[in-house]
Amino acid sequence: MLEYVPTTCPYCGSGCGMYLVVKDGRIQGAEPWKEHPVNEGTNCPKGRHAFDFLYHPDRLTHPLVKTKDKLKKASWEEALEKVASGFKGVAPKDFGVLASGKNTNEDAYVLQKFARVIMKTNNIEYCARYCHSATVAGLLPTVGSGVMETSQLDIPLADCILIFGVNIKETFPMVTKRVIEAKKKGAKVIVVDPRNTLTARLLGDIHLQLRSGSDVALANAMMAIILKESLENKQFIKERTADFDELKKHLESFDLSEAEKVTGVPVEKIEKAATAYAKAKTGTILYDEGITQHTSGGDNVASLADLALLTGHIGKPGSGVNPMRGQINGEGTGDMGCLNVFYPGFKRVGPDAVKFFEDAWQVEGLPGEPGLTLTDLVHKCRVLYAVGMNPMMASPDVNEIEKSLKAKDFLVVQDIFPTQIAQFADVVLPAATWVEREGVHAWVDRRVQKINKVIDPPGEARPDWQIICQIAEKMGFKKHFDFKSSGEIFEEIRKVVPQYKGLTYERIENTAGGIQWPCPSEDHPGTPTMFGQKFGTPDGLGHFKVVNWKPPAELPDKDFPLTLITGRNLFHYHSGSMSFRTEALLSEVPEAYAQINPEDAARLEIENADPVVLETRRGKINVKARVTDDVPVGTVFVPFHFSKAPANILTNPAMDPGCKMPEFKVCAVRVEGGR
Ligand code: SF4
Repeated sequence: MLEYVPTTCPYCGSGCGMYLVVKDGRIQGAEPWKEHPVNEGTNCPKGRHAFDFLYHPDRLTHPLVKTKDKLKKASWEEALEKVASGFKGVAPKDFGVLASGKNTNEDAYVLQKFARVIMKTNNIEYCARYCHSATVAGLLPTVGSGVMETSQLDIPLADCILIFGVNIKETFPMVTKRVIEAKKKGAKVIVVDPRNTLTARLLGDIHLQLRSGSDVALANAMMAIILKESLENKQFIKERTADFDELKKHLESFDLSEAEKVTGVPVEKIEKAATAYAKAKTGTILYDEGITQHTSGGDNVASLADLALLTGHIGKPGSGVNPMRGQINGEGTGDMGCLNVFYPGFKRVGPDAVKFFEDAWQVEGLPGEPGLTLTDLVHKCRVLYAVGMNPMMASPDVNEIEKSLKAKDFLVVQDIFPTQIAQFADVVLPAATWVEREGVHAWVDRRVQKINKVIDPPGEARPDWQIICQIAEKMGFKKHFDFKSSGEIFEEIRKVVPQYKGLTYERIENTAGGIQWPCPSEDHPGTPTMFGQKFGTPDGLGHFKVVNWKPPAELPDKDFPLTLITGRNLFHYHSGSMSFRTEALLSEVPEAYAQINPEDAARLEIENADPVVLETRRGKINVKARVTDDVPVGTVFVPFHFSKAPANILTNPAMDPGCKMPEFKVCAVRVEGGR
């Protein structure tokens, strides 16, 4: 008999609902969930093929232990013993944990507890360092919290939408649907992107095609125009903000013609965009890695917060400055404290957090100093525990990452597939996927939804939280990790994470589309819109932050004369471990490509589909040329999903000095034809 089991999509951050069609314990198909408020009966290509990879023959089904330089099948007992003895006695500074935005909150919570309680280290990080650490750096001082401020469902309430550095048509199909709804109601859409993306072409009323890395100059120009035209929201500024005079003074002498030179966007076009956004009754800003992945990422985000504070487009439904976190649990893994400076609930590492968690967990000696950030952690820790994260694809300058991984004293990899990092592992542990265990995720707009177990994991694969607890038990810490179910873990989370206090499994399960945190009590409906009354800053005010434009760390020169931008493609997902094992997605885009402008292609004598070599100061990759005016002259775009041509061999590891975000979005490259 066929069963239709409700669940959510395992791909992007929207959290669409779907039914899995199950027969005899095997998934036969996926159908959209018509009543689900996020997708209302539609799924994008990834969602339609969400379950295919579950049955791929590459799935890890048994533990593997390295013996004589080869990974060999082992029993759980042997593998857990080996892991426990490899971890025992390692100094906190030498031990690092990599978490993933794909795991459940329960997995993430137990993992950070393992790092802190047993290994006494804050060396725990996840992929947010590479996508939204700049969000935290830019939004904490300005509005007090680095989260999406409106509900994705409320986007149609905006009458001006500023899409800044995010190609939502390919990366957030359901958010695109909301933007289209807004447009139908008359909203003006401004797209800011160096590329002429599908988003710019299909949604943009105005496209500001700026030079990559000139975002602050553009935002400052928009604000200078708003002030010159006296379009700022004076009442909002007076009642809800601080430090406005500093910003005003800074922008009084702002040189718009200089901004035109830096951004490459004509002043008249910037004026059109600035006035449309300022005059809107409700304006929203959607942004992602085009803003954050720069050495100035924190400043870029702060300048968007300034823009929203200046116009008062924040704190009401359909408004705000909205980071578009792309992973299913990109928000939740951070909520659970898988970051070097935050314990669960974003309690900053320091004496207060240590005291709180020592009391809560009944332990002593928790670490009170910040841990290493992700790239440093991979390079510097002798012993590494990687749970669902693959720095061989996600980190910048992958050749250097590979050298560090090869040099580890002990490396444990826990995942659903043997990803590129697994080749260097001493032990590989097979994990369950999202429908092979239960738990909760928090999606892009703080939407907490419950996932139920639909099928059994293959072979001997186990839920991540169970594996972590079993290692803890082997290391003598059963007392602190004696969880019998994910529900027990969630009950502990509710006690220590105030934002989740009012959420229960029962409540979440009985609410289609989940509940958005903060949810402080069991009779609280959740919070679709942040900052309605006050901001998350200590004084409750929004703080303007003066920022100056700084050029990217590496600009084109005579040896590497073009600018390289990396990004995503609709049919693939991050490092590709799932989408490349989904035939329907792979057949759409089977191999790596580089977009190159026809003028550059003609000069280099490259034709469409020619094999080309992309080379930067860090390495080279072979790809096929796609000659298109989607990229401007002087710019090359390459998607980062392809393991056979990893774009991150090319990228620059130079970092934002504050948040340690690498500059994935700009580096100097040369292109040569032929292999
Ligand atoms: Fe899945 Fe995102 Fe597509 Fe929805 S929009 S089906 S969550 S990939």
